[in-house]
Amino acid sequence: MDCIFCQIAEHKLPANIVYEDDDVVAFHDINPQAPVHVLVIPRKKHIAKIADMTAEDQALVGKVIYIGKQVAEQLGIAEDGFRLVFNNGRHGGQHVYHIHLHVLGGRPMTWPPG
Ligand code: AMP
Ligand code: ZN
Repeated sequence: MDCIFCQIAEHKLPANIVYEDDDVVAFHDINPQAPVHVLVIPRKKHIAKIADMTAEDQALVGKVIYIGKQVAEQLGIAEDGFRLVFNNGRHGGQHVYHIHLHVLGGRPMTWPPG
């Protein structure tokens, strides 16, 4: 599978990993948009985008969100607040088609998003 995030999940591509277990991997974004910018991905299942989720993926994606919260605590941004984002598809600004949760923090975020 020609997917860079599957390759990171399989340790075939390097990444600065902050957390991993059998289900998920969390690693620093290579082009950070905030002082803390981590991506959380499912490890064993390639789901291209949130729009492709099925009912059976609910627990896995729920865990991705839970680990996003855990990583925010681990990296010291939880108390001040942080942002969790799934970009979906072309208009959603998605570039890598393996679902990933952006965990952004360490500065105030603005709204509305660009
Ligand atoms: P998105 O636009 O939502 O698909 O986000 C893709 C994210 O993946 C971007 O923030 C990129 O900077 C990040 N990214 C791309 N390649 C890598 C990589 N090899 N390691 C870490 N982050 C990456
Ligand atoms: Zn993949």
